[in-house]
Amino acid sequence: MIKANDPSLKSWIEVQPNSDFPIQNLPFGIFKTQSSSPRVGIAIGDQVLDLAILNKLGFLDKLKIDNSIFTNQYLNDFIALGKSTTNAVRECISNLLNENTSDLRDNKEARAKVFQSISNVQMLMPVRVGDYTDFYSSIDHATNIGTMIRDPKNALMSNWKHIPVGYHGRSSSIIISGTDFHRPKGQSLPADMVGKPAEEQQPIFGPSRLLDFELETAFIIGKETKLGESVSTTNADEHIFGMVLFNDWSARDIQTWEYVPLGPFLAKNFASSISPWVVTIEALEPFRTKGYKQEPKVLPYLEYSGDKNIDIQLDVFIQPEKGEENQVCHSNYKFMYWTMEQQLAHHTINGCNINIGDMMASGTISGPTPDSFGSMMEISWRGSKPFKMNDGSERKFINDNDTVILRGYCQKDSIRIGFGESKGKVLPAL
Ligand code: CA
Repeated sequence: MIKANDPSLKSWIEVQPNSDFPIQNLPFGIFKTQSSSPRVGIAIGDQVLDLAILNKLGFLDKLKIDNSIFTNQYLNDFIALGKSTTNAVRECISNLLNENTSDLRDNKEARAKVFQSISNVQMLMPVRVGDYTDFYSSIDHATNIGTMIRDPKNALMSNWKHIPVGYHGRSSSIIISGTDFHRPKGQSLPADMVGKPAEEQQPIFGPSRLLDFELETAFIIGKETKLGESVSTTNADEHIFGMVLFNDWSARDIQTWEYVPLGPFLAKNFASSISPWVVTIEALEPFRTKGYKQEPKVLPYLEYSGDKNIDIQLDVFIQPEKGEENQVCHSNYKFMYWTMEQQLAHHTINGCNINIGDMMASGTISGPTPDSFGSMMEISWRGSKPFKMNDGSERKFINDNDTVILRGYCQKDSIRIGFGESKGKVLPAL
């Protein structure tokens, strides 16, 4: 096994201390260049290692992997080989890139073929997403929203501490970082109609006025189950391949009008932006930490042992057209009330089967303090406390031509395991 927290592990590739991709990380992604078709790559420093060429040149020979696995536009077939193989690939590459290993280091001709500068490649969707589920597992977020739209004294619904609440979303509009999209249009109820008798309520149609981001992460399923099977909290990690950053764009005005009684629909399904590099659960293992105490006690199928939260620092920035980045949030994945293992155990307890490439999002990750709130809905407290930008303008929600950037990384001593970024720009409505 690669010791992800071993600071003595160094590569002959130069890696800056603030890089998200040291030799301890080795995340997988799909990339292409102007002259090459989509293929599997690994990020190291500011370089991308082309696994298709590396395999073709014989550096992965002992693993006996058919090259069609690497000359592929998605990671699904690679992930389907199982953790024994995918972890062996990471281990083999860790050895190959180790400062003390000369095979590739001293082979100038091969080196010229297998590396691309990260700035010269186009990153693509890492997986063909099957089903997409969105949870609602941050207690601070759920409390904030409940306080705003219901009752501060009963902010959490009675089921919230017993069930990792979630809903089935739509995978067709999950997009890779860097993909711009147009402000969604839809129905909403004008503010002065709220609370009026039903027969007097008249919705309007137009571009969403309250477009928001949601700071989330998502985990990607790496091992399928059959219909009828359940995953336990104990073996959940066998089914989790890795994680990405996830911006679950949300239209608050559309959401408020449509969500009764069945929940999110068009307010959520127009776009969700993910980061391109899938950080394996193995690389994140050294950053496990304690979560919130779960009180009242959860039902037995949701119990777990050990530290199952993860200390991932999460930052959100808004960048106006031609302006500079403004940090609006600094949160952390460790603020999640429900763990991924509990989410997966709950998702499958009724026999619902899962498939490789399914994506399960965390729900908005807010912390306990206002600077750690993971949506504009909370940061501006429903528009009542506008956020002041560096250029003097204010934001209650997201403006046209704003770019929202999510970044995330784990840091312990000198080791930093990062995700890169998820970036998306809101174009004016069509
Ligand atoms: Ca969400």
